[in-house]
Amino acid sequence: MKKAVLLLSLVCLLGCYAGSVKPLLDRPEFKAENEPIRTLKVLLITDDSYRKDEIEKFVSKCSALVEMQVGIRLEIVDWIRIKWEDELDDIIKMEIRVAGDTWSKRDEFDIALTFIYFVHNIAGGKLPLGAIDTFFWRYLFVRELDPYILLHELFHAFSLDRGHSRDWVMKGARPPYGSEWYWLTPEDRKEVLRNKWRDFNLMPATGQGEEKRLEESWFYYKIGSAYLQKREFDQAISFLNKSLETNPKYAAAYETRGVVYSRREQYDQAIADFNKALEINPSFAEAYFSRGRAYYFKKEYDKSREDIKKAQDIGYKVPAEFLDDLHKALGKNK
Ligand SMILES: [Zn+2]
Repeated sequence: MKKAVLLLSLVCLLGCYAGSVKPLLDRPEFKAENEPIRTLKVLLITDDSYRKDEIEKFVSKCSALVEMQVGIRLEIVDWIRIKWEDELDDIIKMEIRVAGDTWSKRDEFDIALTFIYFVHNIAGGKLPLGAIDTFFWRYLFVRELDPYILLHELFHAFSLDRGHSRDWVMKGARPPYGSEWYWLTPEDRKEVLRNKWRDFNLMPATGQGEEKRLEESWFYYKIGSAYLQKREFDQAISFLNKSLETNPKYAAAYETRGVVYSRREQYDQAIADFNKALEINPSFAEAYFSRGRAYYFKKEYDKSREDIKKAQDIGYKVPAEFLDDLHKALGKNK
């Protein structure tokens, strides 16, 4: 019985092996298909989880493996050091942070490659060992210096929404055995070659339409919100503008932009945004509260009270301190 299982797995392994591009590497037609070479501009990001020379060596090893298969070469064009706030281990937050931090340089690189020892709560923290954003497909995270991981995430960037349907390098989890798993299947290679020249500043044209547009808008909204928290108001507004350009019916983005205007003491603009948010979503408790606050700072205390009451009626917990201030102001006004 044991022998049969062993034999079976051997056959399977050999079968799979024949399915990878590795045996084709030396064929002239295979090499010809890889031409011309695309040099991918890589922005490296590190938080000192790994040493610079370790990373450089690793990237150059991966570059050789990728170039052999699809004619794409990795060239490091810049380095950034990152100090995490509360983003670490939350992959979405990490993506938003990196996208926001590197936005002003976005024309200078194709992919942003972050080497970072993070723990993700999938499979008890064992997976994933790498990650890539699903918006631009250009923000990559690598947790271990194993070429399988970088190759896997990089090929995602050229296979877009094809997921993990194939064997070899596009398999979701790292298999327990070695370097055989650095290779694409011929079919996956075709897909990578098809997208080889994609523009990383554009969201790939996969799954276009309503859902993709909402996702894109959400991504900008999250970056804008992160800048608001950091009190970088100009940046916050520019991302919230983008979010609203992409989805003009995004109540939360109006509300957040209103909050930014409030922080800048531009209360009329703030109120216009809160109005917009409430027009779209009349039961948006937080928008009533935010508008009530803006009226308070404009010293329009009756309007403020009205909004605060609406917020409370919908179930919003208005901070006691603010209620105190409002009541005092209303009392003085009488
Ligand atoms: Zn994957």
